[in-house]
Amino acid sequence: MTHQGLKLSKYSLGTGDRFAHQAKAQLRACVQARAQGVEVIPVWNKSNREHIIIGSEPASVRQAADAAVQALNWKLPYYCDADHITLETVGRFLAPCDFFTIDVADFIGQAAPPAEIDAFIKRHPELKGSIDLAGADEAFEITAASLKQAAQKFLAAVKKAGVVYRKIEKAKGAGNFIPEVSMDETDRAQSPAELLIILAAIADEGIPVQTIAPKFSGRFNKGVDYVGNLAQFEREMALDVAAIAHAVKQYGLPENLKLSIHSGSDKFSIYPAIHATMRRLNCGVHLKTAGTTWLEELIGLAEAGGDGLALAKEIYAQALDHRAELCEPYATVIDIDPAKLPSPGEVRGWTPEQYTSALRHVEGNPAYNPSLRQLLHVGFKIAAQMGRRYLDLLEANQAVIARNVTENLFARHIAPVFLGVTNGGRSQARSVNSLVTEKV
Ligand SMILES: [Zn+2]
Repeated sequence: MTHQGLKLSKYSLGTGDRFAHQAKAQLRACVQARAQGVEVIPVWNKSNREHIIIGSEPASVRQAADAAVQALNWKLPYYCDADHITLETVGRFLAPCDFFTIDVADFIGQAAPPAEIDAFIKRHPELKGSIDLAGADEAFEITAASLKQAAQKFLAAVKKAGVVYRKIEKAKGAGNFIPEVSMDETDRAQSPAELLIILAAIADEGIPVQTIAPKFSGRFNKGVDYVGNLAQFEREMALDVAAIAHAVKQYGLPENLKLSIHSGSDKFSIYPAIHATMRRLNCGVHLKTAGTTWLEELIGLAEAGGDGLALAKEIYAQALDHRAELCEPYATVIDIDPAKLPSPGEVRGWTPEQYTSALRHVEGNPAYNPSLRQLLHVGFKIAAQMGRRYLDLLEANQAVIARNVTENLFARHIAPVFLGVTNGGRSQARSVNSLVTEKV
């Protein structure tokens, strides 16, 4: 598999923009990173699920991205990601997108025909035994039984990814898009040894995969911090990176293949580990964030006061009313404690400061309320249903919203992951410029 065509750089950031109004403010965060000496390539991601809930078309993401790039005179690459697409949903993404996250998590555990499993095992005797990985401090021990188990578990899913890849390739031409394979939306984490086996199967399918999104252990809920064992995450990430480097050499996968971390945004506690691992192993990552930019829109509206604050309160009240329906599509990636949700009456009396400090993710701020944050995160349907009323207020308060969007993306995500600047999640925005002393 030789590399021709589009090639994703070492550092890239996936960012979501539900209402297609913040692309410029998001891109400005990458401009700031560049000013600090690190090139972080922006990728605008929006899943089919989001498009359906909002009632938008993938072409709108492309239009917003193109306009932002032109407005800020961004000369580096940028991409539009058909996030978590499948064979059934990829169609309308083909024209506007040039990055495809092929999601085959639903097929994990469906056994491929026994003959295919046997053929895979025969083709890969090198996967059996003790495999020493450059850069890793432990070898993979893969027995005949565990190889067979992994093949039974993942081979059908990888073959499905091959079918989807070929459909995209037929429409766009090889090299004209970045393929990612994602397996993160499933119950059980994949071990680094399983990742190596999956990559061997991906190479067999002829998919020139540039990013791979495994499921890591721990909880990656939307818009809130990581819940899990930090040391285990760091060890797992390092072994995944070693497995990737090994697979690139052994199976001829693209040499820029890297991990895609579907963070769900705001995994502040693992960001230092991600940064440290990248430095230590000289590798990059694609950090995919969720659509938390929409929460910055709410924060900006609340901060603006007046009609903006009133609308932000109304959205909360309606989200609370429709909690079950809003949470349902996101059930596996949110943990809301209903007892911690304030009543609409209480929120109605809030000042801008009370609203923003409950919503803004600043660990250590006693007013920060992760349950409220998660409910509002999945509550974008309410704003979508308001249509022009919501968008008009966004446009009227664009300056304050844009400031929040840029600051959030740069100070809370880019700075800790790509610049190695952290401040324990507390008012990073204000201190980041003075803290930047080293470059990745
Ligand atoms: Zn994902």
